[in-house]
Amino acid sequence: MPHTLALVGIGEIARNQHVPALQGTGAFTLAATASRNAGVEGIDGYRNLASLLDARADVTCVSLCTPPQFRYEDARLALEQGRHVMLEKPPGATLSEVEALIDLARARGVTLYASWHSRAAAAVPAARDWLADRRVRNVSMTWKEDVRHWHPGQDWIWQAGGLGVFDPGINGFSILTAILPHPLRLTAAELRFPENRDTPVAADLAFAGPDGLRAQAALDWLETGEPKWDIVVATESGTLTLSKGGAEMAVDGVPVPVGENREYPNLYARFAELIDRGERDADLAPLRLVADAFMLGRRVAAPAFRW
Ligand code: NAP
Repeated sequence: MPHTLALVGIGEIARNQHVPALQGTGAFTLAATASRNAGVEGIDGYRNLASLLDARADVTCVSLCTPPQFRYEDARLALEQGRHVMLEKPPGATLSEVEALIDLARARGVTLYASWHSRAAAAVPAARDWLADRRVRNVSMTWKEDVRHWHPGQDWIWQAGGLGVFDPGINGFSILTAILPHPLRLTAAELRFPENRDTPVAADLAFAGPDGLRAQAALDWLETGEPKWDIVVATESGTLTLSKGGAEMAVDGVPVPVGENREYPNLYARFAELIDRGERDADLAPLRLVADAFMLGRRVAAPAFRW
């Protein structure tokens, strides 16, 4: 029997990825939506999650696609009512609120899945396996895209808690923290804030790891043309390149076949697996790196940003 699921926050990612992924899975039935201004044709729609949960006791799972600043209360409500919850990335606006959700899910005995869609990209498992027994020397991450193309008119990303350029950058961090055999420690950061916004438009970061490992990340939201979502890992025995956000992989310049990129179908398969096993999966490592960057980062003024 498929799980009965409600989708909350019908915007870009819900429409482009969640709805098609749910339609293609046998594990979930999309039974209802909660969104103030939008819905999905043919699906029972509510203005908010509270009224949905009151009306639909049959909904056992809730998937939250709202921006991170507006997700905590809904997640808490659903968990308190014993529903399983999946969170879009980043899982919340602060580490503490997600930790509180983890505790609540554990106490209620339900699943909390903090999803990281880039970790579900095709090349990530192969990259992790290739790196598992290698000594990493240097890591270079480039995450550059055009905010006007990828997030047109989304004001929440420029408001406190919206992460700014770390909204895409955290996707790269979610890959780094999944594939590297050792954790990275942020050592320096420079964050460039448009003078009229609360969140950064670009960032340069430096990290260290064990045995002299060094890493750098360059994030920029004003890159026009093709996005650059690349990670290069130099080891003592070869260089791994991940490109297209983890969809493609090469070793010493030679492409490695990794199969079709199916990020969102993979996420829902994982959510179903966690529910069936009675488990939780909420890794905060990518969000912690972002928090560290805001703590340690030097703030530099950048020109005002206008759409
Ligand atoms: P979005 O389209 O701007 O927002 C999703 C929906 O959330 C909105 O349409 C809105 O629907 C609802 N919402 C509820 N409260 C809101 C509030 N106070 N302010 C603004 N919207 C509110 O954003 P999105 O691009 O789908 O991103 C949502 C999440 O998915 C983010 O965490 C993002 O990082 C993640 N994500 C996005 C992408 C992408 O390419 N866009 C890719 C992967 C992951 P109603 O007005 O109907 O309530």
